[in-house]
Amino acid sequence: MCAKTKKPSRESSQITYEGLLDGNKKFIKSALKSDPDFFNKLSVQNPPVLWIGCADSRVPANQITHTNPGEIFVHRNIANMVIHTDMNMLSVLDYAVNVLHVKHVIVTGHYGCGGVLAAMSNQAFGLIDNWLRHIKDVYRVHADELDAIADDNLRANRLVELNVIENAYNLCKTSIIQNAWKNGQEISVHGWVYSIATGKITDLKVSTSNNDKLDDVFKFK
Ligand SMILES: [Zn+2]
Repeated sequence: MCAKTKKPSRESSQITYEGLLDGNKKFIKSALKSDPDFFNKLSVQNPPVLWIGCADSRVPANQITHTNPGEIFVHRNIANMVIHTDMNMLSVLDYAVNVLHVKHVIVTGHYGCGGVLAAMSNQAFGLIDNWLRHIKDVYRVHADELDAIADDNLRANRLVELNVIENAYNLCKTSIIQNAWKNGQEISVHGWVYSIATGKITDLKVSTSNNDKLDDVFKFK
């Protein structure tokens, strides 16, 4: 979801439907030029990372981490949420953990996230309000800290960070991650935030590889 989308840049407004297929031809040519075996190598995937990111078009996982197809398993939705009733997210997580055996699951948010900004407002947007409600819950939990930040942009940036932290925490609450830990599977959960303005990813340093920090009520024993 774009943050208060302004006029599209000249480059993106020139993208056409046919242009995408032309672009695909260029991609094939370029990939084979750099490695004639490029597509043969993708016959199986063995990514070490599951990325849970925002659907925002400006935050493409492979591009901003300088990785290739096959190296990151990706799930994206509005505002990089981990909702415990979301069968789509749970199915991706289960497959990543129990079939692909990823070593890292990374929740990546981004400053200026339209979903977070919308959730901070009192405006009704329609169906999506039910999704954004989960971000409002994050605000409620951290209201003391957030309300003390006078500057609107700084407060929004902090909510972006707290939303990443809470959703990384939500990952740890799932039976999928807890069972993996219980079975001795080596897997870590992380929280990152990306700056569209600079391209820089910041590690929020909430990495965890066990359920020690979980509130007792969430622990499966
Ligand atoms: Zn976003």
